[in-house]
Amino acid sequence: MDKLNFMGEFKDSALEDSFQRDKWPSVRFRLLFLYLVTIVAYIACGYSHYGDLGPGAEFHTILLGSLSACLLGSFAFILLWADKVSRRVQYFCMSLCMFSVMAAESLELLVKFSDIGSLSVPVTVFIVLAYYILLPPRIIMPFIASVCGSVLYLSVLATVLPVQSSSFLNSACYLVLANIFGAFFLYTFGRSLRREYAAMEDLKKLVAVDELTGVCSRRRVLEAGDCIFKSALRFNNKLSVLMMDIDHFKKVNDDHGHCVGDEVLKETASRCSDVLREVDHFGRLGGEEFLVILPHSGVHDGIKVAERLRSCVRERMFKVGESYLPVSVSIGVAELRGHGDFKSLIQEADEQLYRAKKCGRDLVCPASLKIVRQVQSNEVSVK
Ligand code: GH3
Ligand code: MG
Ligand code: MG
Repeated sequence: MDKLNFMGEFKDSALEDSFQRDKWPSVRFRLLFLYLVTIVAYIACGYSHYGDLGPGAEFHTILLGSLSACLLGSFAFILLWADKVSRRVQYFCMSLCMFSVMAAESLELLVKFSDIGSLSVPVTVFIVLAYYILLPPRIIMPFIASVCGSVLYLSVLATVLPVQSSSFLNSACYLVLANIFGAFFLYTFGRSLRREYAAMEDLKKLVAVDELTGVCSRRRVLEAGDCIFKSALRFNNKLSVLMMDIDHFKKVNDDHGHCVGDEVLKETASRCSDVLREVDHFGRLGGEEFLVILPHSGVHDGIKVAERLRSCVRERMFKVGESYLPVSVSIGVAELRGHGDFKSLIQEADEQLYRAKKCGRDLVCPASLKIVRQVQSNEVSVK
């Protein structure tokens, strides 16, 4: 399904916002370039107008137009760096700036037509194209600004040239073509940028999310864990990890088939996600093994959470077709003890998981403390 609307923007406003945020630094860079080129062009033109017209009223009128456009440009440019200003306002100011540059061109044409008549149209066409090419990826405001600027320019041209003359018709034709070309470019370029962005986002999701269960992928949870481990070590925070494995899962597959096995995996992941906090990280390492990272939690909190996970899987049977299936998990718990690396912490939790399996399954086994949960009891018992 097409994610783009008729203007070539994302239908989903959150996605459009994140796209704009992502592209903003490059738009800002292009506008910095445009701003500097405009300033240099105005200084050069101002110098040449002064040479042609001298310090009279005509020169001052042109200077006023150019200065207004420059001031508006500078204002719009300052807004680009103000993070609190909304993108819409920033685009509006940039488009207003585009209009003001064309208005300054129109003013110049009016004052100095006899001198610049032949050069003014190509310059205006160039301005239109430059803005269209450098302003993506939003289309509507630059389009309105450019069309209004072109209409203003042609209206002024109509006061100095007969409307039926071939020069006027040619100029009108060039401006219309420049707008069509510019708008088409902005539209198609914006669309392909958005399609690329959407594909990248899908790819990122694919890498970050486990396809079957919808929880974090192996890569994502290990990356998060590594980062949290380093931060916990640096700032002396507590951290514990749980390694969880579904008991006798192979038998589920063998007795009921892989599809049922998949359903059991999904249901287990969903039940566990529901009992974890938002700050916890929960991912599938592979097969029927899951990893839980509990920031700011010591071994005792880790045991409590592991118990919660164990009982949420055990408490209700899993519905498989018409029958019900008992499922249980074993969990190994390990906590950060001020040294080592994330890999060794996982290794420790894995050893405890192995111990839980050896001690009969459906158990929580923490490292260092000799705690083994009794299957029937709801209490954690310390041996
Ligand atoms: P234990 O209690 O010792 O953990 O025994 P187990 O049977 O759970 O463990 P074992 O490692 O012997 O078997 C794991 C099984 O999980 C084998 C494999 O076919 C199955 N498996 C791995 N990935 C998937 C999957 O994505 N879907 C399904 N349905 N099965 C999977
Ligand atoms: Mg297993
Ligand atoms: Mg396993």
